Amino acid sequence: MYPKLMIDLDKLTHNTHYLVNKMKHHDLSITAITKLYGADSRIISVFESFPEIEYFGDSRIKNLQTYQHTHKKKVLIRIPMPSEVEDVIKYADISFNSEISTIRLLNEAAKQQGKTHRVLLMIDLGDLREGFFEEEEWLAAIAELTHMTNVKLIGLGVNLMCYGGIIPDAANLGKLVACCERVEQAFNLKLEMVSGGNSSSLYLLDKDSDATLPPGITNLRIGDAFFTGESSLGTKFADMHGDVFTLAAEIIELKEKPSYPIGQIDVDAFGKVPKFEDKGNRLKGILAVGRQDVAFDGLYPDDEALEIIGASSDHLIVDFTESARDYKVGDVVKFRLHYGAVLQAFTSQYVTKEYIG
Ligand SMILES: *Cc1c(COP(=O)(O)O)cnc(C)c1O
Repeated sequence: MYPKLMIDLDKLTHNTHYLVNKMKHHDLSITAITKLYGADSRIISVFESFPEIEYFGDSRIKNLQTYQHTHKKKVLIRIPMPSEVEDVIKYADISFNSEISTIRLLNEAAKQQGKTHRVLLMIDLGDLREGFFEEEEWLAAIAELTHMTNVKLIGLGVNLMCYGGIIPDAANLGKLVACCERVEQAFNLKLEMVSGGNSSSLYLLDKDSDATLPPGITNLRIGDAFFTGESSLGTKFADMHGDVFTLAAEIIELKEKPSYPIGQIDVDAFGKVPKFEDKGNRLKGILAVGRQDVAFDGLYPDDEALEIIGASSDHLIVDFTESARDYKVGDVVKFRLHYGAVLQAFTSQYVTKEYIG
């Protein structure tokens, strides 16, 4: 039963209403990104019920496969592996690309399956994860692409924040729009998707923000923000819930123990030399949850007086000393989760899921 990830579908529905309206107000098409929760079918059903969401996107074909029955267009948002092009054509309507050699393979695979596959080119505007970097290179790719029989260019996109921590703003997103105008003129075509980033671009829709989303951006790809109510810059939309997800874990040991280990210190189970501060004896508890379940540095106890002091594969060590509550073995402690913790909780087979609503 424990550790358990509780998923509040009512709060998620409320959040989705709010964000979808906000994006529609800015004439944006919406791609709901499904990788954070491993394309969980109950969560997918919530998003499926919103007609404003036109696309479902994921980095993994395996996740796209699980919702082939939905009416949303499926988008592979990670650059395809050359070895998976047949499945890309089979399971994705659109894929994001940055290598012309892979696009050639997609064209061949699409020809074999008698399909037309739609591609969006990713442009790297400084975050230094995926995307064409040199303008000559993407212009040459488009020139070649427009002559291919079974792939069609539908737009350009950018990803920011995830690797380099680069903030989406009017300058870099304006550059993306300028690239699109350049392509439309040079190749005499109309691009239907100008995809201006992930949840971290949402702050540009906030009326209180100094910066605004440049006109010409037509799409955003949103995962995280539906669940946190935050843009990745730390602003939170006041009308959204931040606690769609809660992790619950059970106390299996609770004892007064020293804060400083006894004996000679070597590396821990993960190859790091641990550091300790001697605070004397503390009331320390062990929860039955560990690194095999969740990224523990992304956990925030509901009881703010608790302090997470460490974790091994299956144990979370918590300092209970400062709490006013009277805990005992068998009690359940709840946590809010940050991005990495949610990601891992959904990936672990040891975490039970419970749905509310
Ligand atoms: C993960 C991802 C997203 C979604 O990011 P969130 O921060 O969850 O909104 C969007 N685009 C790409 C390319 C991604 O890899």
